[in-house]
Amino acid sequence: MRLIFIGPPGSGKGTQAKLLGKRLGLLHFATGDVLRQAIEQDTPEGRLAKPYITAGRLVPDDVVNQIVSARFRSPNRPERFVLDGYPRTLAQAFAFDALLNEVGLDLTSVVLLQVDDDEIVRRLSDRWTCPALTCQATFQTNSKPPRIPGKCDVCQTPLHQRDDDKPETIRARLRVFHDLHDAILKHYAAQNRVVEIPGRGDIETIYENILRGLRQKVSA
Ligand code: AMP
Repeated sequence: MRLIFIGPPGSGKGTQAKLLGKRLGLLHFATGDVLRQAIEQDTPEGRLAKPYITAGRLVPDDVVNQIVSARFRSPNRPERFVLDGYPRTLAQAFAFDALLNEVGLDLTSVVLLQVDDDEIVRRLSDRWTCPALTCQATFQTNSKPPRIPGKCDVCQTPLHQRDDDKPETIRARLRVFHDLHDAILKHYAAQNRVVEIPGRGDIETIYENILRGLRQKVSA
């Protein structure tokens, strides 16, 4: 299985992509994680990416494409994967198509986790994030509370509410998401690879919906 996983901020995309990776034995490849790690290790890519990530802007396409390309051209390249956070622009989608073609791998599907904008605003207003740059774990007051109130389960850093989790900022981020991803989804829809999954319900329900959607798509 070779998947691209797409979902708006707050859709549960990261949680589901990790779960798919773990349960189906796919490499979960999240460019956000790779970039944060590069920053922590102070690599040349990390130094290039840092000002963009800190400002909440997209890292330039060539930097991200280079990171992905290096991984897929390495001797231990992933054969089965779920990509999370990439491609984020149409230029990245074209670069990734070309890369897969070059290394002789076929994309199975592009999973779109569908959640209404209003529901996203409601969820994110309720979201608490670990501020540690290398962690960034997220919690929901109602559906996924931390074990110790106010503290990160992973690294025990006090949690905070991100400025960009305010309703008006969330709406602006959703506009950016739709602007970027509508073009990407159109691109993959033309290849008949998109599977739309309703992102409502608890984690296991959504996970089952994803598996069902993928099975139907693959057997169609
Ligand atoms: P994420 O963890 O996916 O939310 O990514 C965190 C940050 O990393 C983003 O806000 C961007 O600055 C950067 N980033 C991650 N993936 C990409 C990508 N595919 N293209 C450009 N920037 C990215």
